[in-house]
Amino acid sequence: MATFKEFRNKIKPNWCPGCGDFSVQAAIQRAAANTGLEPDDLAVVSGIGCSGRISGYINANGLHGIHGRSLPIAQGLKMANRELTVIAAGGDGDGLAIGTGHTVHAIRRNMNITYIIMDNQIYGLTKGQTSPRSAFGFKTKSTPEGSKEAALPPLELALSSGATFVAQSFSSNLKEMTNIIEEGIKHDGFSFINVFSPCVTFNKINTYDWFKENIVSVEDIENYDSSDRIMAMSKLMENNGMLTGVIYQDKTRTSYENHVPGFKEEALNKQELKLSEEEFNEL
Ligand code: SF4
Ligand code: MG
Repeated sequence: MATFKEFRNKIKPNWCPGCGDFSVQAAIQRAAANTGLEPDDLAVVSGIGCSGRISGYINANGLHGIHGRSLPIAQGLKMANRELTVIAAGGDGDGLAIGTGHTVHAIRRNMNITYIIMDNQIYGLTKGQTSPRSAFGFKTKSTPEGSKEAALPPLELALSSGATFVAQSFSSNLKEMTNIIEEGIKHDGFSFINVFSPCVTFNKINTYDWFKENIVSVEDIENYDSSDRIMAMSKLMENNGMLTGVIYQDKTRTSYENHVPGFKEEALNKQELKLSEEEFNEL
């Protein structure tokens, strides 16, 4: 069984010292090792942005795709090889601006993929512009008088799009993040995981200290029930989207693959598909 160190390749990450993305990489490696995977069993697909480099640093199958398109590639991989554990990863700009359409439809499609957004609430790679996750009034070189737009709420978006696994973590909490990614990998369906991953170079507002002061763990909410979608949505809204932990999980719905003829043999039913014996055998 591979150790977490065996999921690390020899390439030195060129993230800035202190960037939150280092922890996300470490958590992916640990979660992969904890779930008993070997590097060959795993594929990490990423989009464009500082966080998109992550696929190049993990010893597994990988592809650094194009901007906002990690999810179509990840879904194609999963369709082509159902034995692969597929993780897609990218930033808030990648998944919640140019890639939003793919994000929403991948969520409702519910393929067995884990999607991690490294949410630093800014565009880091292009040296600090306002992102869809930046707060109203956020000042950067692209909005010198402050952003006139409201920040997009990723978890509420995921919940209302029909997500079956919605979680959030923070780069300072490697243990929680590892557990969440592990749960996400084990979940039979699409796992949406947003990680507060501070950009120490360009975002001087949403810093490690700022997140520590503002996040609330679901474990500290009395009688929190992660199978209750209405509760998940209402607690998220009450806490301005700053909840961490597994916020919602629907264990009753199975993944897309289970409903696609020819993709999973045991899901096939000759009668339901109205196929002749000959047609069925050709699937
Ligand atoms: Fe990380 Fe920001 Fe540096 Fe990019 S610019 S590597 S997001 S700290
Ligand atoms: Mg970003």
